[in-house]
Amino acid sequence: MVFSCRQCGSCCMFLGDYIVIEEQTGPFSFACESVSTGTPFTAEVDEEKREIFKDHTFPDSHPHACRFLRPDGDLLRCTIHRDSPPQCKFYRCVALKVSDIRGRSLGYVTGALALHSEDHELRSAWDEVERKRPRSDEEAEPWIAAFLRQKDFLVE
Ligand code: SF4
Ligand code: SF4
Repeated sequence: MVFSCRQCGSCCMFLGDYIVIEEQTGPFSFACESVSTGTPFTAEVDEEKREIFKDHTFPDSHPHACRFLRPDGDLLRCTIHRDSPPQCKFYRCVALKVSDIRGRSLGYVTGALALHSEDHELRSAWDEVERKRPRSDEEAEPWIAAFLRQKDFLVE
């Protein structure tokens, strides 16, 4: 499946402690740190998002959200999309969508290869996945898709 981010912002809602602004270096420029990897980065607010960035109502009322997240109509958008750290750029909340043979959605596998599903059959197939899957995530993703298809799940 080619992942397409809907910019719903839910993955950024609790990242305020992980994407940290160390210093404001200009009107729209910041020295930051990605705490989980201990990596410093510099970020400039995307030009077309400066107006929404200037409004602090959202970060003031959502103290755990990433400081760069802002509402924009129905979306919650990253205002440093160009300069965001690699783990943000490569993050995928959904890697594989899983349905039954009739196309009824059963759950999904996240980019970190965790299953989100309440379906009993899918969960027991997943127990087997956990025991047998290749250890490297890169190899595991196509392996998991093929394994679940063999078990008669639809995977996209
Ligand atoms: S990666 Fe997923 S959760 Fe995060 S903004 Fe995009 S669609 Fe939403
Ligand atoms: S830098 Fe952007 S993508 Fe990363 S957590 Fe913050 S708002 Fe989300």
